[in-house]
Amino acid sequence: MEFIIIVALVTAVLILHRPLSALFNKLYISRQQHKFTECETFYHNVVSKYIRYYNRLGLEDQRKFLFRTFLFKKSRRFHYIEVKESAEMPILISAVAIQLTFGLDKFMLNYFSDIFILKDDYHYGFYSRPFMGHVDQSGIYLSWDNFIKGISGLTPNCNVGLHEMGHALAYVTFITETEEDKHFKKEFKNFSKVARPIFTSMQEGKRNLLGEYAAVNYHEFWAVSVETFFENPVCLKHELPELYQAMVILLRQDPLHTRNTNNVRTIFVMKGLKQEAESLN
Ligand SMILES: [Zn+2]
Repeated sequence: MEFIIIVALVTAVLILHRPLSALFNKLYISRQQHKFTECETFYHNVVSKYIRYYNRLGLEDQRKFLFRTFLFKKSRRFHYIEVKESAEMPILISAVAIQLTFGLDKFMLNYFSDIFILKDDYHYGFYSRPFMGHVDQSGIYLSWDNFIKGISGLTPNCNVGLHEMGHALAYVTFITETEEDKHFKKEFKNFSKVARPIFTSMQEGKRNLLGEYAAVNYHEFWAVSVETFFENPVCLKHELPELYQAMVILLRQDPLHTRNTNNVRTIFVMKGLKQEAESLN
């Protein structure tokens, strides 16, 4: 009798697990949406001041962007190291993460519960050159002075926030495998079919828009591609059109057409990716 009850309970848990967690998630999101409305204007003011990408989005996408930023920030611990804390800092860092993952379903990078903000360039490990940022198992590290220059467009092709979030996204997908966006993981193989030969040619001495640092290793190639994709899309599309197109498909967004997703949808339809095209609705 006991055995039957245990089997029945286990079966019930297995059957109800999905609908119950979906229900709890729905309730959580609706509660957070309510809280978000209280600070939406402040978020808009902070993000619109710096993030050019955000200012190019349509109104509906701007709201989605800010809500995702709110959820991202809320689930992090921010640590300020020899830098004066401000209310803008965690919002802007969260916004940059959301910029990168805006076309994906999984955008929280939850493995990284800690984000460390340093004043400026710093030394790390046994490396002799100073760091602007890095990602390791303990968290995401960013130097504020370089971060703000990157989002203000003061450093052409360079945005350390996007660069480190690129590493973080690859980390949760391929190293810890703790937060897998199915589309991103699957499509990364196709991205690599285009990107690997470009990376190899760079290692053999060929130079292009991505610059020498992208040739250091494939991780850096990916992170620099992310920066260039958002910071200099016109030149990237012109100089390395296949890489640009592969990034559009991989990240399910086109920085040259942020006001609507029709362009990305057309690419998916042309490639026969019906499900991907529909998921953009
Ligand atoms: Zn890097």
